[in-house]
Amino acid sequence: MCVEAVPPPSSSLTRRGILAGAAALAGTMAVAGAAPASAADGSPAAGPRPGGASGGDLVIEGGTLLDPATGEVTEDAVVVITDGVVRAAGRRGSVTVPQGVPVLDAHGRWLLPGLVDAHIHLSTAAEAADAVRKGATSTRSGSTSFYQDIAVRELARHSPALAPRVRAAGVFVTPNLGETLLADPDLTPLVRLKDGVRSAEALRRVVEVNLARGVDVVKTRVNERAGVPEQDPLAQVYSREQLAEIVAAARKGGKGVLCHSYSERGCHDAVTAGIRSLEHGAFVGERTLHEMRRRGTYFTPTLAAIAGMIDSPNPVLAERGRTYLPVLKRAVLAAHELGVPLAAGTDSSGGTVRPIGREVELMREAGLPALDAIRTATTGAARLLGLERTAGRLARGYAGDVVVLDRDPLADVTALKQPVRVVRAGTPV
Ligand SMILES: [Zn+2]
Repeated sequence: MCVEAVPPPSSSLTRRGILAGAAALAGTMAVAGAAPASAADGSPAAGPRPGGASGGDLVIEGGTLLDPATGEVTEDAVVVITDGVVRAAGRRGSVTVPQGVPVLDAHGRWLLPGLVDAHIHLSTAAEAADAVRKGATSTRSGSTSFYQDIAVRELARHSPALAPRVRAAGVFVTPNLGETLLADPDLTPLVRLKDGVRSAEALRRVVEVNLARGVDVVKTRVNERAGVPEQDPLAQVYSREQLAEIVAAARKGGKGVLCHSYSERGCHDAVTAGIRSLEHGAFVGERTLHEMRRRGTYFTPTLAAIAGMIDSPNPVLAERGRTYLPVLKRAVLAAHELGVPLAAGTDSSGGTVRPIGREVELMREAGLPALDAIRTATTGAARLLGLERTAGRLARGYAGDVVVLDRDPLADVTALKQPVRVVRAGTPV
């Protein structure tokens, strides 16, 4: 019996692949045609919203507006949001204020664009709503077990106040799929592989099922997990060749790969295999950081997750947290000084959503200037998600996602941890 061959894909996978390709093509054509640059969900294929506009109208007035792109600060600012999209933002008097629109008084407050969490696991509607309340209005999924992130992405399109904008990763490309074998009938045959998902064919299959399900990115790993005491996060799971196979399969669908990594060798293999962003990366070394700068590979250190391990009741994890956090902070500062792009991500999962402001606080503690730390959760992360014209700024044409803060975030970035108000697509949450 041959247990290493992957059974042929079902005709439904082939068909779904064709449909996904056709949908992507239709989206491309819509963008090339007359589609407005105002899709509040940032989706190139968005077009008209099902059931009409799901964004709200709102005028926010009187606050101090910070533009993370330029560092410019505008006092007594007015932000006009229509159908969930910013129509104008600037100093009072320079902006035409529409009549009959709800007004949010922001005198004495600071206004920032909604924040981006570039690594989060949203498996429930409750987590999605919590992420928004804590300021993350755009997110990139770090995978979910049963494609819940794709459903959350749709939830956000229909009712943006209930969920952040999502770049979905679908299921994790990992040797042992476990329960995820039941996530799609085209994954189930992989149960017959005695060694798990390791052959080029098997790796391609998981990526192809993800693409057919409509993922925006592909998530894989090079190392074992840090958050599981029995695992050695420095042990390598996939080789450079296996990672290159995953990257190639993802690229066929036009998607980038984010890779869970810890050891320097693992980080180097992942980066040289062509991943788009390195996740965690505690022991990333200088040669790999240079390679990342050369290639434009992003670094998503998820400092908040590593710091969170320090409070673990498990002594192995607590010790790991204490050892890894200072190493990771040094890597973050070295990356920043070299010019490697950084993205903020909390790696929240399992029902607990950490505020994305916590990651910004740790970026600052690592040594980034306040504005640069804020950029990791705004303009920088938005670029990684392909949302640089949708998220990360409050300017004409950008999404009407706003965090209202009670103090100057440039003087104290911890203000980002507790927004006094969050506006999602023009609707106060
Ligand atoms: Zn994760």
